[in-house]
Amino acid sequence: MNRDHTKLICDVGELTGLFSDTADLDAFLQKIAELTAAHMAADVCSVYLYYDDTQELVLRATKGLSSASIGRVRLKLGEGLTGKALADMQPVCEGEARNHPGYRYFPDIGEEPYHAFLAVPILRGHNRIGVMTLQSAQPDYFTPEDVNVFKAICSQVANTIEMAKLLMSIGAGIHATGPAAEATGLKLVKGRIGSEGFAFGEVAVVGLHPLEDVPCEDAMAPMTLADFRRAVADTERDLQDMQRDIEDRLFDVASLIFSAQILMLKDQGFLSRIEKLIEEDVHPVQAVSRIVRYYVERFDGMPNEYIREKKYDVMDVGRRVVEKLTGCADDRNQFAGKVVVAQEMLPSDTLKMSSRQVAGIVLLSGGVTSHVAVLSRSLNLPLIIADEPRLLMLPVGTKLLIDGTTGNIYIDPGEEVIETFQENQRLRAEAATIQTNLKPVTVTRDGVRVYLLANINLLGDASVALDYLAEGVGLYRTEFPFIIRSDFPTEEEQYLIYRRLVESMRGREITFRTLDIGGDKMLSYYDYGKEANPFLGLRSIRFSLRHREIFEQQIRAILRAACDTPVRIMFPMISSVDELRQAKGVVADCIAQLKAEGLPHQAQPSIGIMIELPSVLEILDDLAAEAAFFSVGTNDLVQYMLAVDRTNEKVADLYLPHHPAVLRALARIARTALRHGRDVSVCGDMAHDPRYIPFLVGVGIRKFSLDARYLPKVQETVSGLSAAAAQRLAQTILGLSGIAEVSKFFVVGVR
Ligand code: PEP
Ligand code: MG
Repeated sequence: MNRDHTKLICDVGELTGLFSDTADLDAFLQKIAELTAAHMAADVCSVYLYYDDTQELVLRATKGLSSASIGRVRLKLGEGLTGKALADMQPVCEGEARNHPGYRYFPDIGEEPYHAFLAVPILRGHNRIGVMTLQSAQPDYFTPEDVNVFKAICSQVANTIEMAKLLMSIGAGIHATGPAAEATGLKLVKGRIGSEGFAFGEVAVVGLHPLEDVPCEDAMAPMTLADFRRAVADTERDLQDMQRDIEDRLFDVASLIFSAQILMLKDQGFLSRIEKLIEEDVHPVQAVSRIVRYYVERFDGMPNEYIREKKYDVMDVGRRVVEKLTGCADDRNQFAGKVVVAQEMLPSDTLKMSSRQVAGIVLLSGGVTSHVAVLSRSLNLPLIIADEPRLLMLPVGTKLLIDGTTGNIYIDPGEEVIETFQENQRLRAEAATIQTNLKPVTVTRDGVRVYLLANINLLGDASVALDYLAEGVGLYRTEFPFIIRSDFPTEEEQYLIYRRLVESMRGREITFRTLDIGGDKMLSYYDYGKEANPFLGLRSIRFSLRHREIFEQQIRAILRAACDTPVRIMFPMISSVDELRQAKGVVADCIAQLKAEGLPHQAQPSIGIMIELPSVLEILDDLAAEAAFFSVGTNDLVQYMLAVDRTNEKVADLYLPHHPAVLRALARIARTALRHGRDVSVCGDMAHDPRYIPFLVGVGIRKFSLDARYLPKVQETVSGLSAAAAQRLAQTILGLSGIAEVSKFFVVGVR
């Protein structure tokens, strides 16, 4: 039997469908069990939740076993095969469960006819949430691929199950442990860039905790229980629509972003508490506000920081219901064209803001790699993160200009700043018109062919790449699906994402860069321990080599996705020949495994490296002997050569891509690659900067990979160049030793 396992994985749309007609949390878990059993073609699927305080797994839903066993079957951590899977945090797959010494028999639950058994733990990082199990009447039914598919399903629903479990705990009381510019004196605030771009408009400050300022009862129109129920139903419909919308637009990072909110509205504990207050004559708006506060306090009292964060979902849902009740939810024009300032924001709000056509966002908290920042980028919404509470006090009518290229926020800016902004807008408009003149191939004035490829962060960028006639993908930053999820994406999930990219690029060359996390790109679910210097720590290829299982899953997913097309695999931050050899060894092992498993895959990937560290400059010849290509990551190369943190505003003036040392390194890299007949490209930000293109062409670079939105400008620059003249220019520049002397060659317009 050779099943197409990716078809077995539930897609996010299908999972969203789980919410549509489930009445409560038990029914929701039951639907998960039924859907999974159907997908996996298994006779039984059961969902167990784990309770830390009793250290017990409790059966909460089952398709196939006796329904009377729900709530009755309880296992200690490590007890039986199910408990073992959770204790070891590893799947347990047995062809004949009864033969296993750890098998635990429960009479009266209807388990007798089943033989094959598969259990997968549901985890968030190191936190145990529960276990899902499958059983089949056919012995030896589950294959290693089934294990992978089942792991993928469990990882997709883990977040949602975790929320369901929390709500059930609160319901049962198990964890109920706890109770104007002149006005502000601001002119310029420096922040961190969450999402690039400019925005200029009036400020709109969004309240901190909207439910704390709900009007008092006398100020509101009378409302009934029926109004409350209608508001809940309407809110639920909105959330489901938003979930569908995001999954259409952002397949690779979609996940069940609104599931926590939707589940709240399914939770009888939450709803009945509110309804009880309404029946006692409390106004529905006040009732929602009080119960939301009750839940927020419960979440606040939880020991785990990640779980405490769930209070924002509760606040979000409460606010939505109140908005529905009071009817002030959809004042669409309220935010159009404005720069929104908020203490914090949920991904759902970011989507909402984008659909309300806000110009840009300023947040007082959050990280540049947070979900909100990633979403903003793919939504083309400028976002700056600035820890300046006075921004929340800006009077109505204040104008804000946010510059998402420097992180500057100008409050009531002067003419000069506005003119710069307008100039930028003009350049953007110009870029849009150049797009219509784009040519499918790029050549210099003297006929030298240059290849322009796209950098891809999210799958949505692929269509931009095609619109701008990119000849391929020179850098696919695979870390984004890792950053937005709540756990490492499984091989099958990665395969689905990569396959979409392969299909959308229609045979064009794609370079997959393997996981490049650490430094400024942290995973919320991975415990890095304390690192004094994360940029010099366990990051990038070092992380992959240290976590071989994660690395292998990614390589296997890439090889499988590219089974019918040539593919390039690129390792980031290689510092030695040894690292390259080790990483190549992993690829070779994965090819051998896939062959043995009979899975279609690409057996001859082209394997290359990023040049980002000074250490490799002295061993370029050795690396060229073992790597099929070099791609220069100038963002990091500049940072590490000059010891200037690329994210630190204080030393931004020292971050100089045209430092003579960097320029000579670039020339040397190109020369060595060409001498060895190796393909060489530049994929850092220098590749989209017209000031550097003549020099780079001059030292022999013929391939550039860049954010496709810059492609028209770069093609225009290259087309106006003479490669012979560029070579002479590069020679002149390479003969200079001072930064000041070199600088004058790097102003726009010098050819
Ligand atoms: C680079 O360092 O230049 C690069 C392209 O990689 P990233 O920006 O993702 O670190
Ligand atoms: Mg880099």
